[in-house]
Amino acid sequence: MTTDITGFKKYSRKTPKKDPIKERVQNYKEFVHLYSEEELNKQSARCMDCGIPFCHSGCPLGNVIPEFNEAVYNAKWEEAYDILVSTNNFPEFTGRICPAPCESACVLGIHNKPVTIEEIEKHIIEIAFNKGFVKANTSFHKTGKRIAVVGSGPAGLAAAAQLIRVGHEVVVYERDDKAGGLLQYGIPDFKLEKWVIERRIKLLEEEGVVFRFNAEVGKNVPTAEIMAYDAVILAVGSTVPRNLDIPGKELKGVHFAMDYLKQQNKRVAGLPVEGEDILATGKHVLVIGSGDTGSDCVGTANRQKAIRVGQIAWKPMLPMERTVAMPWPTFPQLHTITSSHEEGVERHYSLNTKAFVGDENGRLKGVKVTQLSWELDDFGRPTKFEENPDSELEMPCELALIALGFSCPQSEGLLKELGVELDRRGNVLANEKDYKTSIDKVFVAGDARRGQSLVVWAISEGREAARQVDEFLMGHSVLETKNAVAEFANF
Ligand SMILES: Cc1cc2nc3c(=O)[nH]c(=O)nc-3n(C[C@H](O)[C@H](O)[C@H](O)COP(=O)(O)OP(=O)(O)OC[C@H]3O[C@@H](n4cnc5c(N)ncnc54)[C@H](O)[C@@H]3O)c2cc1C
Ligand code: SF4
Repeated sequence: MTTDITGFKKYSRKTPKKDPIKERVQNYKEFVHLYSEEELNKQSARCMDCGIPFCHSGCPLGNVIPEFNEAVYNAKWEEAYDILVSTNNFPEFTGRICPAPCESACVLGIHNKPVTIEEIEKHIIEIAFNKGFVKANTSFHKTGKRIAVVGSGPAGLAAAAQLIRVGHEVVVYERDDKAGGLLQYGIPDFKLEKWVIERRIKLLEEEGVVFRFNAEVGKNVPTAEIMAYDAVILAVGSTVPRNLDIPGKELKGVHFAMDYLKQQNKRVAGLPVEGEDILATGKHVLVIGSGDTGSDCVGTANRQKAIRVGQIAWKPMLPMERTVAMPWPTFPQLHTITSSHEEGVERHYSLNTKAFVGDENGRLKGVKVTQLSWELDDFGRPTKFEENPDSELEMPCELALIALGFSCPQSEGLLKELGVELDRRGNVLANEKDYKTSIDKVFVAGDARRGQSLVVWAISEGREAARQVDEFLMGHSVLETKNAVAEFANF
């Protein structure tokens, strides 16, 4: 290993500079800068090459992390790029928005702060684009096999990227007007600017992937059309939002988070929005739900100049440090302060949302909540709750955003017409080994199979499903996947 073996002792963890809050909330641009060359070198030198790199198994893609850290340390940019893309089709997405479970598994993290793996990944791919290493590959032998991929989120895109590389013809059907799924119309521009997606789509098109936009299979595209292909991958995401069935849900000013976020992404893109404008400007905003979607609503509401933004969680605040229930190297459920939280929010915990309260014109004017007392188990995990008597209060609110996650993919249309078997949660049934559904030649990947999850998992599932499709069509596959590597290792 030609790296600095004492780097982890000499250098502390540093993340790149961010634009000051006052400036960044004036626009929807990404605000995280790049490291200087010197700082990137120091951060890569913090990798200890520990011998048993747990970070590999922390990453759902099995990214080969110490090796790319070493290449970065030695400024071998092409080598770093080759190592990175051997396991990850889209490091420009994960390098920006992955919650980095690899860092939770970093051995340095046992006694110090982990290596900034996610940032290093972003630097490798951006340097590779700047140096011209990222090129469309069209040098494959055509197989004559045709595959329909339904959905262009990270799962569908990863499957398409893999399948085109081994010479199949790939057509991606997307009901929206642009590719990317939730990357395009969910995740705000300030986390992921959309030129980053367009740059990748252009490369995929150059490689031969055909995109059909405004094409909803099971609606304006007959399901029979995709069944005429040699194989189909369903990558339709988990899009049915969890509802909050309480009085006042019908009031003007109560919306699902996704309707709100999608509108803002369209505005930033200069596209017309569908339906009435949902805006936080000049309002008291309450975001109900504490995940990524809720945090994105907070960042968006602050940019729209809300008077006050609050976020309500039903459960108590998560612990700040690992507990015995979440030992290293597992991905711990800890209290997080996202960049959107830094920009200003009042966070409320253990609150039960009881009712939306309207004025005489049917407009939302407040949200009734009660305080909950939680009982914790021996590991500090909340188990039972009781509502505190006389704790009801009304919080002023003219815009309430329901961000309680997603329960399953939409069954109406495509899934119903196919008659594909679903699991008890309503996701498309298939195991993690062969990704095959109950219908011959139909496979599934991403949130549609595993339930709402992460971009890195969607890419991983897209790659695994692509390998299964390739094997199904050709009898064997040269596509590298995490499962294939694990099988080889077990053998
Ligand atoms: C607001 C928000 C913020 C998030 N932030 C993060 C984050 O910071 N980091 C992270 O790792 N994850 C994040 N996630 C989760 C992540 O975006 C998803 O896990 C991931 O996008 C799932 O990928 P997918 O390809 O399975 O599905 P999606 O991205 O949901 O893509 C599915 C695609 O299928 C299309 N489709 C559906 N049905 C049809 C049909 N019948 N015909 C044609 N097209 C169809 C949809 O239009 C969509 O484009 C976030 C999610 C949300 C909602
Ligand atoms: S994709 Fe995510 S988990 Fe994997 S190495 Fe990158 S930041 Fe870590």
